[in-house]
Amino acid sequence: MIDADKIKQDFPILFQSVNDEPLIYLDNAATSQKPRQVLDAIQHYYEHDNANIHRGVHTLAERATTHYEEAREKLRRFINAASTKEVLFTRGTTTGLNWVSRSFGDSVIEEGDEIYITPMEHHSNVVPWQQLAKRKNAKLVYLPLTADGFVDVQKSAEVISAKGKILSVCHASNVLGITNPIKELAELIHQQNGYIVVDGAQSVPHMKVDVQALDADFYAFSGHKMLGPTGSGILYGKEALLNAMEPVEFGGEMIDFVYDYESTWNVLPWKFEAGTPNIVGGIGLGAAVDYLEAIGMDEIEAYEKELVRYVLPKLQTIEGISVYGPADPELHTGVITFNLDGVHPHDLATAFDMEGIAVRAGHHCAQTLMRYLDVHATARASFYFYNTFEDADRFIDSLKKIKEFFK
Ligand code: PLP
Repeated sequence: MIDADKIKQDFPILFQSVNDEPLIYLDNAATSQKPRQVLDAIQHYYEHDNANIHRGVHTLAERATTHYEEAREKLRRFINAASTKEVLFTRGTTTGLNWVSRSFGDSVIEEGDEIYITPMEHHSNVVPWQQLAKRKNAKLVYLPLTADGFVDVQKSAEVISAKGKILSVCHASNVLGITNPIKELAELIHQQNGYIVVDGAQSVPHMKVDVQALDADFYAFSGHKMLGPTGSGILYGKEALLNAMEPVEFGGEMIDFVYDYESTWNVLPWKFEAGTPNIVGGIGLGAAVDYLEAIGMDEIEAYEKELVRYVLPKLQTIEGISVYGPADPELHTGVITFNLDGVHPHDLATAFDMEGIAVRAGHHCAQTLMRYLDVHATARASFYFYNTFEDADRFIDSLKKIKEFFK
């Protein structure tokens, strides 16, 4: 099993005190911390290779281009895309989902068509589809969930109709701690000749994802939640679909020829990457992939599962605590969302901060889900593979202490 104590040594930020207590970082669903190896890659790039890519013939430009495109290849391998043509660098999940809804959505959705999402989606997987439905006079339909909070495949089969063109769903929830059955959902929408778009923000950092095995048409994720820099991310799309799509942004890099009154586009993947990209973001994300692969995604998933088996039952037995999502640790990811009776989640998070523990409070950019759960806000502790069992103990001990304080 992973030696989290040893791994933690790679994350300098974790060795500090917050409010005179050693920091325990449990806000990994919001963003992850960065290991020294990623920080070094970023610094090395700026100290040795910094130049604009794809343009210059000088040595630095060629080196920067090579490192950037090598990072793309690492990302391709990481998610098992068939070709780097299918791996577009973005600013993160939000950008990826917006590109798909704007370009692909506008081309396939017609008046009266149905777009499916679920009540658990992050705002970045709700609002772009609301906007598309409005633009096209299409219908936005929410798929049903099981009592545990998974998308209910059987009931969804009854909802998804021949008018269904796009189903967009998160692979793992940022609130409920569940992982959705993407392959089954892909089959359902493909049976109707529709397409599946997957929000992988909370899955790619925590498990082995194979976009071909899932048969995802599009798959978006963020670099900053998987040890990479902010402002980095990937949109995967099947080559034929990306080829048929119009670019969303226009400018340098994405063009082939610019005539006086019209232009032609570059080939994939550059057709979508207008302007100077986040070069160091891509290279840093490549370094993050190296780090994750050296540990192993299966090992990371197994370790996080052990942590959940350890911490979830302890949390569930504290009186006055409600945990959202599945009660069974076997079904639960390291995202643990909860409330303490009579205490506002913001007060709870502030009290945790006084103990040096970073947890999240609020609606987690999932207001639809908050209404579905009939709560205004929740607290959320989200674990990653550098969190130790000792971190879990301090989280539980602090929660008991906080509960006493608010009594
Ligand atoms: N989708 C999910 C499930 C998320 O948790 C997040 C971020 O919290 C996003 C999408 C948006 O990611 P980003 O802000 O990196 O674009």
